[in-house]
Amino acid sequence: MTALRTRFAPSPTGYIHVGNIRAALFPWLLAKQKNGAFIVRIEDTDQARFVEGATDLILETLSWLGLDWDEGPQKGGNYGPYFQTERREIYAAWAQKLIDKGLAYADPYTQEEVQAFREEAKALKKPFLYRDYRPENPPTWDGTQPLRFKATNIIRHTWHDPVMGELSAGPEALDDFILIKADGLPTYNFAHIVDDAEMKITHVIRGLEYISSIPRYLSLYDALDLSPPTLVCLPHIMHPDGKKKLGKRDGAKSVSDYRTDGILPEAMLNFLASMGWNDGTEQELFSKDELIAKFSLERVQRSGARFDEQRLLWMNGQWIRRLTLDDLYSRVRAYWPASAKNSDETYKRAVLALVQDRLKTLAELPLMTKYFFEKPIVNLTLITDNKQLKKLTAAESKNLLGEARTALEECEWSAESIQFCLNNLLQTTGQKPGTLFSLIRVATTWAPFSPALHDTLALLGRDRVLARLDTALLAL
Ligand code: GLU
Repeated sequence: MTALRTRFAPSPTGYIHVGNIRAALFPWLLAKQKNGAFIVRIEDTDQARFVEGATDLILETLSWLGLDWDEGPQKGGNYGPYFQTERREIYAAWAQKLIDKGLAYADPYTQEEVQAFREEAKALKKPFLYRDYRPENPPTWDGTQPLRFKATNIIRHTWHDPVMGELSAGPEALDDFILIKADGLPTYNFAHIVDDAEMKITHVIRGLEYISSIPRYLSLYDALDLSPPTLVCLPHIMHPDGKKKLGKRDGAKSVSDYRTDGILPEAMLNFLASMGWNDGTEQELFSKDELIAKFSLERVQRSGARFDEQRLLWMNGQWIRRLTLDDLYSRVRAYWPASAKNSDETYKRAVLALVQDRLKTLAELPLMTKYFFEKPIVNLTLITDNKQLKKLTAAESKNLLGEARTALEECEWSAESIQFCLNNLLQTTGQKPGTLFSLIRVATTWAPFSPALHDTLALLGRDRVLARLDTALLAL
């Protein structure tokens, strides 16, 4: 049996967004599952759309996600080079095979002539097909004209796509398309077929935008006496409104931006895999190993999967909780508020342990922990706009805080005894926890939320807590 070989073939035309990285993840999962090989090939033949630095960014993103490749840039392999612009001779040799068979010809037309054909077809109310206007005596190809494929086997093609099912398309889908452009570089349509064959790819997995071209690819495989690999098209990832495909123009973010925002690669992988795929159970959280074990193309849904960023944030929170404190501590290094700079590690670890369950992204760390490191800014609207606290008059708030200060001053300083003191205080004041605890929390953190009050106070320390209560009493 031949080993399974899959590939990811990005074009370095810009950043890599969440809509297209799935075309790397699914082939990678399949290769890992079947002990096959995953190849990365850089499709850089579109000089006009080439973006400097894009290849590095793509490779960095793959590495960050842990999608390691067996062959490709930085790695090499038996079927290189892995950049298309370095493979011109290979394409030329395959093009020559077609020329020799009479299945490729030099395109003699100017753009204006082709436009005239188009208009004629339109006037005749029939779809424009280049092959209807094929030149009778094309010039010998000298490399300055585009080289076109001559589609001669005009038949209905049928094929099986493991995701999309049984597919077929009639002769109207076949045409003479450009193999080599006037600049000497091959088109995607030609180059990827040559490369996939040369690189012995067994499964081509790519976006749905390619589905309508597959009949043409099949006719080219025939002409080259190649048996096509398994051809798979993945459904689109849809904009959150469900109406259009997610694209850069509609705000699809770069995967590396999610990284900067403090999304964990574990969560990103889980999220990407679960867009349009499930294992048939209710399970939502999958580790990389579980994905490798359970993934199958047959369970990828055919309809577009909606991009739901809230779900990504939820998943990220779940993955943050699953990390050991050591692991989390090493990952948040770049995210602490500036004021934490001189705090010692033990204190920072204790702060982190306290907020771990609440973090949805690593970038939320400053917002969640600032008041552990710096004097918070008094913001009375946190009292006047608070549903429970706005019921209190300023005098009542002041009285309650005064009582709290006295009780806390006498309290032994551990989370447990603070909790005990606070519960006593509920009894003596006759207040509800929602009111009393919110008031103390706001007055000591001036933050809209915090972990459990007794834990927060214990970690802040007696001196800080009493000083902050004094500041609040003055402000009220
Ligand atoms: N270079 C193509 C793209 O970035 C690859 C499509 C494919 O996987 O064959 O869309």
